[in-house]
Amino acid sequence: MKDTLRHAGMRKQLVEVLIRKGIKNKSVLSAINKIPRHLFMDSSFEDHAYQDKAFPIAADQTISQPYTVAFQSELLQLKKDDKVLEIGTGSGYQTAVLCELGAKVYSIERQKELFKKTKLFLSKLGYRPKYLSFGDGYKGLVEHAPFDSIIVTAGAPFVPKPLLGQLKVEGRLVIPVGDDTQIMTLFIRKSKTEFEKHEFGEFRFVPLLEDKN
Ligand code: SAH
Repeated sequence: MKDTLRHAGMRKQLVEVLIRKGIKNKSVLSAINKIPRHLFMDSSFEDHAYQDKAFPIAADQTISQPYTVAFQSELLQLKKDDKVLEIGTGSGYQTAVLCELGAKVYSIERQKELFKKTKLFLSKLGYRPKYLSFGDGYKGLVEHAPFDSIIVTAGAPFVPKPLLGQLKVEGRLVIPVGDDTQIMTLFIRKSKTEFEKHEFGEFRFVPLLEDKN
């Protein structure tokens, strides 16, 4: 596992690309500038790690495009020590970004192979999420709720009710909603029963799958 000056140079260029595409949050940009994305990917794709593209990882899943990771992270408006739930741990890249932002991170993955591999890998890299869970993200993590923010990193055919219910008041849920393509959607909880909804552009994710444990 090596991170070289060459990789650091490519990361800096990636950050420039993200700035040109409209990402403004300094902490998000600095997290991306710091995290060795190439180590989160299969070595055959290593040379492409700093292109603004999604790539395949194990178990037919993908590591999200850096722009998407940055866009979702920015929408969360995290403060240090915020309690965040991520659905879809995958490669752990987004998890690492959330850790760099100073959040207390909880993350759920339904693929056993990825769950095990990523858990080990994140700890090797020195990232310490609060809790990595093997399970079904549709249910959230009721035993650790409520959360300041929830981020869903797979395409959800509908908004799972438990996730809305596990937000604090003023908490934010960022979720791509749709089947083939998804609309990035932000819900802000205004009270026990009221949610504000904002929609952003179209994105494309692997599907959030139900019931296969
Ligand atoms: N955040 C990841 C994105 C991985 S792709 C990254 O940065 O690499 C989406 C992930 O969501 C996949 O790993 C997939 O296995 C997982 N996933 C799909 N449905 C899920 C569910 N119901 N619960 C938890 N994880 C799920």
